[in-house]
Amino acid sequence: MIRKIRSVVLIAAVAVVGILAAGAQDNMPLGRTPAAIVDGQHPASYFPNTELLGAGEMRITALGTGMPNQTKKAVSISYYVELGNGDKFIFDIGMGAMGNLFSLRPDFSKIDKVFASHLHVDHVGDFMGLHIGSWLSGRYTPIHFYGPSGATPELGSKTFIEGMKKAYQWDIATRTGALPDAGGQIVVHEFDYLQENVIVYQENGVTIRSWPAIHSLDGSVSFSLEWNGLKYVFGGDTYPNKWYMEFAKDADIASHECFLPPKALAEYFGWDLSQATYVSTRIHSEPQAFGKVMATLKPRMAVGYHSVQSPENNAAIMDGIRAVYDGPLAIARDLMVINVTKETMEVRMAIVDEYVLPPDVTPAYVKAPRTDTKSPSEAILNGKWPGYTPPPMPQRPQ
Ligand SMILES: [Zn+2]
Ligand SMILES: [Zn+2]
Repeated sequence: MIRKIRSVVLIAAVAVVGILAAGAQDNMPLGRTPAAIVDGQHPASYFPNTELLGAGEMRITALGTGMPNQTKKAVSISYYVELGNGDKFIFDIGMGAMGNLFSLRPDFSKIDKVFASHLHVDHVGDFMGLHIGSWLSGRYTPIHFYGPSGATPELGSKTFIEGMKKAYQWDIATRTGALPDAGGQIVVHEFDYLQENVIVYQENGVTIRSWPAIHSLDGSVSFSLEWNGLKYVFGGDTYPNKWYMEFAKDADIASHECFLPPKALAEYFGWDLSQATYVSTRIHSEPQAFGKVMATLKPRMAVGYHSVQSPENNAAIMDGIRAVYDGPLAIARDLMVINVTKETMEVRMAIVDEYVLPPDVTPAYVKAPRTDTKSPSEAILNGKWPGYTPPPMPQRPQ
């Protein structure tokens, strides 16, 4: 009954402001009623599930902005992109990102597309965590993984996903029957890492393209997402490259890695300056490289990410960038949120709870078919201690 009243309130709000696209409403956690943002006046902080996304608005949340050596304040790379038409996309899902995604208490029934820039653990390490966690928390359809090929088949996304499925066979088998059948499936869409600005996804007015990046081995890429006249670019790990300079043109939001400068990197890892210079300026893009890229491209907002964050490091990064670029800039931190429309741009931090309840699932999730229940063998079941009797099993909801 409470839910019924809540949805009536939501529909009324939409009718008044008339800004939300049909079908865009998310399943909200109990107790949250999102409000329309009037005249682009966003609150100073973003409290998840309290704001209706405008029909022409895009919201980008940095879920992870750090390094493989993740910290509590900076987990590995991931961005969550939500569109006013209700679509949602994940770009990279590095280790630790799932915790930040979960802290937003999103409608997991709508999060079923992951785009991977490359197969480093700081970019895909939480993919199985997302797969299982979202299957547990509302997703009842397959999850789709879009990722690059490699120089050889065994270095590509198909092999990565097949390997993940094999490695987690036991985990997946324990959950079949208890969770929706289709939600356990992973569909992999491997595309050619060499393709230049070619479409890898196109649906519902959203076009996503990929192009190569220069990083470690062949097989790192960048993406652009275009929708409703807005362009978001997600740069994969790279040395500054010609494809980014060409295909990230006209970006509203251009994100690109912005690594620690050599000296700060050497101090952080205890490396000698030669190794730090190699990693920072040959495998990655140091702040001046990032700054030069943005000074040339002139996006509406330049977003730098992928660094070890501390007051000293952040100052070193800023000094490097500002020596060569004086345009709009956001150094991404975990849970930084950007709201963008054709007219407005708002950069804020999300405020989330340390302890969060799971998001409420939809009735469709509850009713989705579940078959092939597995259980331990007789040999194991016979080991049940007779001193405990569990409560009777209630009926499943029909
Ligand atoms: Zn990498
Ligand atoms: Zn990386």
